[in-house]
Amino acid sequence: MKLAAVKGFRDIQAGEVLARRAVLEASCKVLENYGFEELELPLLERVELFQRTVGDTSDIVEKEMYTFEDRDGSTLALRPEGTASLVRAYLAAGMARSQPEGRFYYRGPMFRRERPQKGRFRQFSQIGAEMLGRSDPAADAEAVTLVADICEAVGLREYSVELNSLGDDACRPAYRKALAAWGEARIDSLCEDCRSRLQRNPLRLLDCKVESCREAMQGAPMMVDSLCDDCERHHGRVKELLTESGVEVTANPRMVRGLDYYCRTAFEVTAAGLGSQDAVGGGGRYDGLAASLGGPDIAGVGFAFGLERMVLAAAGQEPGAPPVDIVVAPLEERALGVVLGLARRLRRAGKRVEVESPSRSLKAQMKRADRSGAACVLLVGEAELEAGKATLRDMVNKADHAQLIELDGDAEQVIKCIGEAVKGGA
Ligand code: AMP
Repeated sequence: MKLAAVKGFRDIQAGEVLARRAVLEASCKVLENYGFEELELPLLERVELFQRTVGDTSDIVEKEMYTFEDRDGSTLALRPEGTASLVRAYLAAGMARSQPEGRFYYRGPMFRRERPQKGRFRQFSQIGAEMLGRSDPAADAEAVTLVADICEAVGLREYSVELNSLGDDACRPAYRKALAAWGEARIDSLCEDCRSRLQRNPLRLLDCKVESCREAMQGAPMMVDSLCDDCERHHGRVKELLTESGVEVTANPRMVRGLDYYCRTAFEVTAAGLGSQDAVGGGGRYDGLAASLGGPDIAGVGFAFGLERMVLAAAGQEPGAPPVDIVVAPLEERALGVVLGLARRLRRAGKRVEVESPSRSLKAQMKRADRSGAACVLLVGEAELEAGKATLRDMVNKADHAQLIELDGDAEQVIKCIGEAVKGGA
């Protein structure tokens, strides 16, 4: 029996690895331009970290975490998200004092036991950023602007940034009650999930995809209409700043996000070409999070993008494999040592070099060299060994230059010689 990968866990093939790298590099560049520093965080955390922050009634904590008991009896979880870990790390390192307005980003795999489908896996990767110690609306506006700039840099097609306010401890409890009462009155139309969410997490009724639930929630009260004065002012200013600085967002009063720690600003980015899992990223403000971990009352706003969905949404622009510059072809077993030495020098000088195998015929080696797209092949057979010079085959102009390249020449000299012989070559 062949052993298969675990359901929802996937192998990532070479082409996709390159596409992921391109997306990550573009995103990191933008983040660094905005003054964010990268932190590396562990994959395992104590389960309480997520129970206290993401929330006991969230889908993530309730049914999606991979947890296990460690040998010392503590319960650990494979991290389902990065914000809680980052804030924990920030507090642990005393950065609340040393970098009270810290800007950090992280990337790496996250684990959630969701039902796998297109764009939804049990191990997926995120790149996320957190701006700590800022409670002013300008921080929210800057986070949304940064999100839009990452989408642009990555080349997402037809993306849209949706914005909402989820209120705070002053106004959300009353709103939750009103929403639960609305759902209660229409309980017969609600799906199983929504019925069980009614008391525990009624906000999620708003983003249920089941048609009868959507109909039942038509006309339900919206958080944005029930904000307290402070939240209203904050939300108004965020929208104003975005408009004035020319960042396009769409108001979506039904967008609630699946994690409990958000307050006030919440946003989500959707993109075309993703099917039903069309959220590429999301985030918002989480002012109570640091305090819920026993730290000082530090405000924060941040977001995370899903790497797999970014790659899917940017599809069509995947980079190919980096092109091969030079193929070195040993025609005799005896030539192999010299050829490997030459290839090493060229590689150390930054060239991408492929070394052929002398067990293949000249014809087979040339066929492979042709497919590699290299501009030139350095052939080393009996005569070349004798002369101490490789023959250069110009693959662009289909011409041979017999015994032209010094076999023990330094890389710079060899590259110069190739450049002169091959027009538009290596
Ligand atoms: P969240 O941490 O739930 O706010 O998710 C942020 C982003 O991570 C989403 O917009 C997705 O792009 C991505 N994401 C979340 N869950 C998954 C999953 N199971 N598979 C793939 N990507 C995911």
